[in-house]
Amino acid sequence: MDKQLRKVVIAGNWKMNKTPAQTTALINEIKPLVKDAKCDVVVCVPYIDLFAALEATKGTNIKVGAENCHWAKSGAFTGEISADMLKACGVPYVVIGHSERRTYFGDTDVTVRDRTRAALDAGLTVILCVGEYLEQRQQNITMEVVRQQVKIALNGVSEQELDNIIIAYEPVWAIGTGLTATAQQANEVNKGIRDLICELYGKTAADKTVVQYGGSMNAANAQELLKQPDVDGGLIGGASLKAADFAAIVAAASK
Ligand code: PEP
Repeated sequence: MDKQLRKVVIAGNWKMNKTPAQTTALINEIKPLVKDAKCDVVVCVPYIDLFAALEATKGTNIKVGAENCHWAKSGAFTGEISADMLKACGVPYVVIGHSERRTYFGDTDVTVRDRTRAALDAGLTVILCVGEYLEQRQQNITMEVVRQQVKIALNGVSEQELDNIIIAYEPVWAIGTGLTATAQQANEVNKGIRDLICELYGKTAADKTVVQYGGSMNAANAQELLKQPDVDGGLIGGASLKAADFAAIVAAASK
């Protein structure tokens, strides 16, 4: 399948880091370093930082995302934020199903599906995270696990809506651990995801679906990962909090 048919997307996931003032400062540092990027650049920030991020990125090539959204439109869900609220604030992207949400906050494949549905209905672009635990890789069931996560999340998603979904393959054992999947491991699973999209939606859809890799991607390993035929960008945690490192990954993706 032809990589040229797809765009490359580098997205930072800031997790629970940065105040609004620190957000403005970090984006101001990143801005000049990525202004000539030949890939899409996104920063996904805590809810409280969204307005600062939107303001700081105005007129630039950096897009803003949230790190989660609720599945309901509104209602008695104390502490939650809906997809419609994000849309109303002018936020175009949202991360859904991050392994930290699944591991620490009880997200399941079904709630990930429901959040994805709400985000698509609101007109957001979803960065849908999937990935296996170390024990699952050791049991050789990585592809079964990832296929199930993707299949359930995409249940009810039309081919047209798929244009607004980026899939991020993130092996849980590689997130925030400094352990990175080898380029071959990353490409193998990303290709398996693309094959599944082909089964579900056909080749045209599979050719254009962006499948990122995430898990300790950094300035040193980005190029090797990003040159793989089925790796269309990265979801970056730790390294996205350092302007120079994030920019180096964007530069690697722009080659
Ligand atoms: C992530 O949070 O999605 C991630 C990949 O984190 P890190 O790059 O720190 O492993």
